[in-house]
Amino acid sequence: MERRSALKNIGGLLLAPSLTFGEAAKQVAPVLRIAHLTDVHLKNEFEAPAKFIKCLHHVQQQTPKVDLILNGGDIVFDMNKENISTINDQWKLFNNTMKSECSVPAKYCLGNHDIWWNENNKGQAVYGKQYTLDQLGLSKPYHSWTQNGWKFIVLDSVHLDIDDTWYIGKLGEEQFAWLENELKTTDSGTNVLILSHIPILTATLMVEDNVVNKWQMLGGEMHTDTSRIINLFYQHPNVKLCLSGHIHLRDKVLYNNVNYICNGAVSGAWWRGNNRQTAPGYGLIDLYADGSFKEDYINY
Ligand SMILES: [Zn+2]
Repeated sequence: MERRSALKNIGGLLLAPSLTFGEAAKQVAPVLRIAHLTDVHLKNEFEAPAKFIKCLHHVQQQTPKVDLILNGGDIVFDMNKENISTINDQWKLFNNTMKSECSVPAKYCLGNHDIWWNENNKGQAVYGKQYTLDQLGLSKPYHSWTQNGWKFIVLDSVHLDIDDTWYIGKLGEEQFAWLENELKTTDSGTNVLILSHIPILTATLMVEDNVVNKWQMLGGEMHTDTSRIINLFYQHPNVKLCLSGHIHLRDKVLYNNVNYICNGAVSGAWWRGNNRQTAPGYGLIDLYADGSFKEDYINY
């Protein structure tokens, strides 16, 4: 009642209340809208190029518009089982498609299929991660930046296993120390989003057929240093959201107030429809100044 009479009193000057409303609306508007595209697995087969272009156009038609694309890795179909000319073709196709079909800035994370682990080629430039870093214009496989009050930390999940023959999910000592320092030197009022290819924590691995009396998880499916990373995050409550891919299934796990989202796959079941019940799609995420977010998985 008091408010109503106050409005009456100012008569024609309704500009004042509407300004107040405008300020309130500004407070709840997201500071950043991102699209999380993971596991694109691009190659010139299975109509993948046309479907990927459809996805990129879908992202760019969103209202409000998407400010940033986070590519979660497994960018090309697979480098491991291919010869160098096929690998070059896959990357040429990817980079040309992004150039001609996407005007939204994109940041990249390396997936296991973006790395050439082939013992016979040790010593060649294409072995390991350098070839892919060159393709993406990156100097390091893990990196960070700050944008609109959020800090983005991209991790490099993929490392050789203890026997050096294949990969597992982990950070390794050097990267873990870097992550520790990144979080220590980030202002506690700055919200943190972590992007990794392999999930730090996911429930998707428990969706398994024919479980008799135990589940089997491999070190390549989820980070093997999960508890160590979680202990670190526990010291930094500004870590809000961890995005991953790799499993081609969609889930959301809340643990110690950190949301771990495994965001399906742009390629679904490697361009052959749904993977179990998860359709080909991408994550659309609105980030807010207070550290909260709204997100959805979009079947494009
Ligand atoms: Zn993967």
